Amino acid sequence: MRVCVIGTGYVGLVTGACLAHIGHDVICIDNNEEKVKLMKSGQSPIFEPGLSEIMQSAINTGNIQFSSDLPAGVAHGEILFIAVGTPPLPTGESDTRYVEAVARGIGANLNGGYKVIVNKSTVPIGSGDWVRMIVLDGIAERQKTLIPAGGTAVEEKLPDIAAQFDVVSNPEFLREGSAVYDTFNPDRIVLGGNSQQAVGMMKELYAPIVERKFAADQSLPPVPVLVTDLSSAEMIKYAANAFLATKISFINEVANICDRVGADVTQVAKGIGLDSRIGNKFLQAGIGWGGSCFPKDVSALIHTADDYGYEAQLMKAAVSVNERQRLIALEKLQQVLKILKGKTVGLLGLTFKPDTDDLRDAPALNLIEQLNRLGAKVKAYDPIISQTGMRHGLSGVLVETDAERLADGCDALVLVTEWQQFNTLDYAKMAKLMSHAVMIDGRNFLDPEAMVKAGFQYVGVGR
Ligand code: NAD
Repeated sequence: MRVCVIGTGYVGLVTGACLAHIGHDVICIDNNEEKVKLMKSGQSPIFEPGLSEIMQSAINTGNIQFSSDLPAGVAHGEILFIAVGTPPLPTGESDTRYVEAVARGIGANLNGGYKVIVNKSTVPIGSGDWVRMIVLDGIAERQKTLIPAGGTAVEEKLPDIAAQFDVVSNPEFLREGSAVYDTFNPDRIVLGGNSQQAVGMMKELYAPIVERKFAADQSLPPVPVLVTDLSSAEMIKYAANAFLATKISFINEVANICDRVGADVTQVAKGIGLDSRIGNKFLQAGIGWGGSCFPKDVSALIHTADDYGYEAQLMKAAVSVNERQRLIALEKLQQVLKILKGKTVGLLGLTFKPDTDDLRDAPALNLIEQLNRLGAKVKAYDPIISQTGMRHGLSGVLVETDAERLADGCDALVLVTEWQQFNTLDYAKMAKLMSHAVMIDGRNFLDPEAMVKAGFQYVGVGR
């Protein structure tokens, strides 16, 4: 099928490349010329395991093109994905201006022939109908420019094109760090919309994935496809993220109680996770959730509830537990080192999770800011950020090129991100290089006994 994906970030580029890989004819559009140039040369502007390889194979088969030409993209696609960012506004609401610009641009360039417009961006509940309205506005604006004064009335032409598109909500559940894997092995596909034609085309688009043709385990039953109305699909995305964020805040709260009573939260999580009603995922206590989705999506849902006169108390509590938790490493540093002014603290990891280069709303950023405020010098080593340098606009932190340089002269290390590489560092050597060998394990990732053996004073979260 002919597909156009507008917005080539973590979601759009992975979606476009995976759809091209399974045989669709895809054009990826972005208004960032630098990114387009990079992608045209076969390089991915983001770090995501496996992405460069499938991009390259799609380029070789001619199934993928990259461009900043929206009209060309709209003309090409029978399915048009909107995959631009919806960052948070200071009020907690979602900033939908990029979605609006794209929807207007689609309307202004619809060229006849039925099209499905797919909201893949995470958008406030009700956005499906709103996107339809903006597209219609875009059509009307273009027609105004086409029709000279006294010419054919806009109203006469508008219904023709308006009848030729439908809006579908297709929320995305991929995880950064395993986005390509998740796209080929999803737990479910959600399609919100009331047009049978549009939903039918979406099912055809995803058929090879639903049938597990590109799955790690092809013997599994087909991927469940849930068809809902637009609002329910939009709500599913927010509810899923709010639930996961609340689950982490819950175990972090249990960890804080464990710290006080002398229990070990890792054993507690194992004990409760074996209960099939609870499950063992998202029960790792640590320094809190972050990233580009959980904080903004939970805030947006709280805001939507507020708009309807309902106070989402549980979600608000999940946020406030998290805000405190994001500074738990600071509390622990103060307990061990007492005064932080003049001390040097090294951060192992900067990204909000492993296997990504994404620093958006990463707990490390809070930590850097607070450590700086208290007069500590901050250094960091991150397997990806240390390679890509300061293009991320980090400030208040010296980014080192390896873990041993990081350890050199530090009064404490804080493990911020559970990169697999951090399992195999020479911790005994690192401990010797430090002024004080203190390890605050913000993800309960390291083996406490091995750390003590390596010469560290080990402090975990709730263990
Ligand atoms: P991103 O910021 O990485 O990418 C957005 C892209 O859109 C950028 O490349 C930007 O240049 C481009 N863009 C902005 N305005 C444009 C325009 N007018 N025309 C063309 N391109 C334009 O964002 P992301 O992380 O991929 O997220 C996209 C959406 O998907 C968001 O709504 C997000 O909440 C949702 N989502 C993200 C994830 C994730 O893990 N990142 C997971 C699920 C859902």
